[in-house]
Amino acid sequence: MFRVDLRRLILLLSITAALLTLINSFYVSYQVQRDLLIQQTLEANRVYAAKLAESTEGLLASARQQLAYSAARLPALLEQPQQLAAETERLKQQTDTFNSAYIVRDDLTLLAISPAMLLPAGSLLNSAGARESLEKRQPLVSAPFISTAGKLVVMISQPIIAADGRYLGYVGGSIYLREKSILNSLLGEHFYRDGSYIYVVDRRGQLLYHRDAERVGEPIHNNPAVAAVIAGQAGSQRIVNSRDTDMLAGYAPVASTGWGIIAQRPTANTLAELDGLMLDILRNALPFSLLSLLGIWWLARLIALPLWQLASSARQMDSQDACGEIRRVGAWYFEAAELKRALIAGLAQFDQKIGKLNLDTLTDPLTGLYNRRGLQLTLEQWQARAQPFAAVALDIDHFKQVNDNHGHAVGDLQLQHLARLMREGSRGGDVLCRVGGEEFLILLPDVDLAVATQVAERLRLRMENCTALPCGRVTLSIGVAHWPDSATAIERVLEMADQALYAAKRSGRNRVVVAQTERQPSEASLS
Ligand code: GH3
Ligand code: MG
Ligand code: MG
Repeated sequence: MFRVDLRRLILLLSITAALLTLINSFYVSYQVQRDLLIQQTLEANRVYAAKLAESTEGLLASARQQLAYSAARLPALLEQPQQLAAETERLKQQTDTFNSAYIVRDDLTLLAISPAMLLPAGSLLNSAGARESLEKRQPLVSAPFISTAGKLVVMISQPIIAADGRYLGYVGGSIYLREKSILNSLLGEHFYRDGSYIYVVDRRGQLLYHRDAERVGEPIHNNPAVAAVIAGQAGSQRIVNSRDTDMLAGYAPVASTGWGIIAQRPTANTLAELDGLMLDILRNALPFSLLSLLGIWWLARLIALPLWQLASSARQMDSQDACGEIRRVGAWYFEAAELKRALIAGLAQFDQKIGKLNLDTLTDPLTGLYNRRGLQLTLEQWQARAQPFAAVALDIDHFKQVNDNHGHAVGDLQLQHLARLMREGSRGGDVLCRVGGEEFLILLPDVDLAVATQVAERLRLRMENCTALPCGRVTLSIGVAHWPDSATAIERVLEMADQALYAAKRSGRNRVVVAQTERQPSEASLS
């Protein structure tokens, strides 16, 4: 079954975490930037509206002052039409404040006007502004109205009062709303390319100025910014305007007239900047993110590698070099090191058990010497590495009688005693075997025939002279051969040692016979 590996899992986990973090920080930064942009725009518009309100206030104050000065001079001139015409001319020309200037008697008769071609002197005025001014008899900034000359205007007027307090009429100046005027120049200058613009409403919410001249005069409903500003509040807010556009509006009232100035920018325009900003952030974050991913990939490899190696070694635990492979794993952190240690310990225990099992199958339980299988294994190994050796074959003389006279148990003791003598007389590399009932074999590596014969003789003597056993004196017959001196085929060497042994039996027992060359055993009893 396919199972995803640890490296991929770590990689997946880290990359997911890294991406989530990236997305999150990107999102948060987007939010923060957006709020900041909105706040900045609102604040900029608020300040701008306040500035314009201040400028407009100044403009109106100066207009009133000019008219007031004129109104003070006029009672004396009222019966002199030429002087009146000159006065309106002066008002119109001296400053750029008014589009038209005029003097009106308290019966709505136009006494003088500049520019003169607008209306003839003596005309009767009937506009809303003219009437309002007469009714109120005080300084006034009118609501927008269509003048008798047919223009949409606001009028600023001052009453003309005689020395005895009698009301004589008013002197007024019109500011055109849809044509070039001082108001339009003041407000129209400030029109931004970035989509922001301003507009002005009067105290009833009617448009006095808009960049779209067609809309001037139109009343604005359902606009929270307009509602706030004509209630006399200054400030800023995000609104949906009367045309369903999301706007960032700042506003300020012009206190003396109740007008409201609104500076606003579509929210969409403001946020469009954000796209570029976020793209910049992304571009800047990209190289580091890629570097991080590379680092994560490398780390994932580093973490997964020891476990991966341990796992693949564990899968081939029965291979020759499993232990070596495990030892070579660089287990650089706690869990990997513990697993490695446990695997090595487990493998060692396993090897020990197998070794013991192997040993059991290769040894003889009575004497602890190698059995025929053990002998076979040794011969195979020695043959493989061309190990020269001497073979010493032993057989206990008349052993049957030992059994018969003293019982099988004593016979066993005798066999164990011989094994002990063999061990005592051997060196580390010697191989001792029990190949039959009371037949034994000693393989002596790197030992020539002469030395092997001496070893055999020593053993024979020790056996002969031993008196410690209940069965008394027991002797050995021994045959000695050498590989490759006695025979070139390794299996033949054992046969030749056997033949030498039988030669020893035939010639009287209790002796050592050396097989000198193949098929020519010679008796060489040293007894
Ligand atoms: P020789 O070799 O001198 O010709 O005489 P022998 O009496 O030793 O003759 P043989 O080799 O024919 O007899 C071997 C005897 O060894 C037969 C059997 O009773 C005895 N024997 C074989 N295996 C064991 C054993 O494990 N324990 C005991 N106690 N006796 C065994
Ligand atoms: Mg025997
Ligand atoms: Mg025998």
